[in-house]
Amino acid sequence: MSRVLYKALNQITSYYKKGVHNGVDVVKKWNKSCYITSHSDGEVLECVKGVPHDPGSTGNRSYGNYVKIRHNDGYMTLYAHLKSVSVSKGQKVKRGEKIGYMGETGNAYGVHLHFEVRNPNNQRINPESFLDSDLPYVSRKLLYQSYDNKKRMWLPNVEVGSSEYAGNYGNAMGGIYADKYEIRVHDMKLGYWLPWVKDRNDYAGNLGNNIDGVQIKNATYRVHLLGGGWLPWVSKVDNTNEGYAGIYGRIIDAIQIK
Ligand SMILES: [Zn+2]
Repeated sequence: MSRVLYKALNQITSYYKKGVHNGVDVVKKWNKSCYITSHSDGEVLECVKGVPHDPGSTGNRSYGNYVKIRHNDGYMTLYAHLKSVSVSKGQKVKRGEKIGYMGETGNAYGVHLHFEVRNPNNQRINPESFLDSDLPYVSRKLLYQSYDNKKRMWLPNVEVGSSEYAGNYGNAMGGIYADKYEIRVHDMKLGYWLPWVKDRNDYAGNLGNNIDGVQIKNATYRVHLLGGGWLPWVSKVDNTNEGYAGIYGRIIDAIQIK
């Protein structure tokens, strides 16, 4: 079943050729037009309406009415020559959601969908194998970083699972920023746990205040004590001494997640 045509099978009428034809042209099998659907979940990046049938036109106008969507993994898809467009810029769309109707606006000779796929580097790749299947999986390295209270700055990101750690031995840590993970820290000055934060929506910590406890859900992690060494790895989150990394009253200067 097509991922870009509503409840239809694809019939390719023109194939991708690098630099010559940067997409693939499809119609509904048995040569009927139909609604166009978003290939995957994403957000509408561009949305052009009101372009007439204009054979021989060039540049962006040759696309006619079109929709460009950015997907969660950084890939983009583009749907051109639409008769009508039913989404708007900035709109979040779901896989299979109707975004317009097939047409022949712009530089088109006959009703069809011109479909393009761009990789996260904005290069147009052959979309043919994605007409019926998921976009390539992009493995995302998970990164985290810590705030140095002495230098008053965020230190460089380090990769989860690597031999590196976030922090500077001897300098108190004031915050943690991390991809994906749910984290909270114990503020030594205030004497309580700060709210949970997740996936860089916010950082954990009060910058400038020292941290003496860390909890990270679904991770194995450990902390280094200022003037001391690494404490044992922690892989759970609860109220026991094994359920967080740190010792109340002792300043943490580095953290490692594996
Ligand atoms: Zn085309």
